[in-house]
Order: sequence, then structure tokens, then C-alpha cells
Amino acid sequence: MNERILVIEDEDKISSLVKAYLEKEGFNVVIANTGEKGLSLLKKGFDLLILDLMLPDIDGEEICEVLRKDSDIPIIMLTAKSDEEDRIKGLGIGADDYVVKPFSPKELVARVKALLRRSRPKKSVLSFNKGDLIIDTERFEVKKSGRVLNLTQTEFKLLQCLSERPGQVFSRLQLVNLILGYDFEGYDRTIDAHVKNIRHKIEDNPRKPVYIKTVYGIGYKFIGIRDED
Ligand code: CA
Repeated sequence: MNERILVIEDEDKISSLVKAYLEKEGFNVVIANTGEKGLSLLKKGFDLLILDLMLPDIDGEEICEVLRKDSDIPIIMLTAKSDEEDRIKGLGIGADDYVVKPFSPKELVARVKALLRRSRPKKSVLSFNKGDLIIDTERFEVKKSGRVLNLTQTEFKLLQCLSERPGQVFSRLQLVNLILGYDFEGYDRTIDAHVKNIRHKIEDNPRKPVYIKTVYGIGYKFIGIRDED
């Protein structure tokens, strides 16, 4: 797979250290020591960008802003400024993560891996319980025992959200926010109604659910068992 990483950093000591550590992990690493060189190299296509905030020509924030107009490449910002405001600003302009100098190269490698994991396109077809439940997020289709189900858009989103993170407990309020896009208390009970409807469609016995489990006092979690690919 050899993912390609671009490092835009003007301090040779830092960029060569980062390069060495990342190459040891099997990544392809290219270094640019100015913002301008970095921006032109980026056109060649990279899987992740490590971007220094303080560069001699264009500063990192500006590069980030320019990039974000037409690219969703994962960006880790390297910054010497450690106060909170700058960190938040760094993320506000579209960096996905930041590391404050001086940093441990091992930590940076761990962040790179985590970010790449998060940014990989999610599989569009999820299969659970030996093919009993199949969720196709590209076709917005759910199959139960081979039969296509009729789910409303909200039901589909709710099922997708839960099933993409099996075992994770979601509060009702969290689900309202994720699915309906607002988070007023009082609406959280509507989630119960949607779950009830979904259970009637996907569970053999809605009273003994094998997919969506109620976590008393909190919310719900998905307990279906993902089939091996
Ligand atoms: Ca610098």
C-alpha cells in the first residue's frame, strides 16, 4: 500500500528525522522545505500532509486554507506555538490534528497512523450475523435474510450510525445530534420511536434484539457481529 506523505518543514533536522521514522514504518515520504514547493508537490497526490506552521515563505495556516478549498487530504500541523488559542485556530482552518514542538517522532508516527485509519474510505457494504443483515450505504439499502427492507431516511441513518461502530454506546442526545442535526433535549425520546421501528424491521424478535441493544439509562449500542470480509 505504501501511503505517500508530504512533509512541508523548513528545519532540515526535523524533516529528516520525521522522514526516517516514517520510512521505517513503510511510508513513502517526500520533503518540501518551503510552502511554495510543498503546494506544487501536492498536485502529485499524497495521502497525508505534515505541515509546519512557521515557514519562511507562505505560512502553514495559509497553505491549509488554500488546500481546504478543494482538498480533503488529512493534515497534521506542526506548531511551536503551544497555547490553546493557536491550537484551536489550527484545527479551525482545517488541520485534522496538530503536534506541538518539540515532539517525539514516535508520537507523530502514531498520530499519522491514527489519522490515516480515520480517513480511509469506509466500506460501503457491511454484513452482520453471517449475512443476516446487510447494510449498503452507497445504495441506501438494507437487507434482512436476503429481503430488501423499507427504511425511512432517518431509520437508515440511525442504523448506519450505530452499525458503523459496533459496541459503542450512543446516548439518545448524541444520536439526535448525529442523525437529525440538532440537539435539543426533549427530542431525544424520538430516537426511541425510531429504534422501535427499526427493530420491527430487522429483528426476528424485537423483544430480544440481536442488533440494537438498549443500554439502560444511557442509550443504545449495536451488537450485531460483523462478518469477516
Ligand atoms: Ca519552521
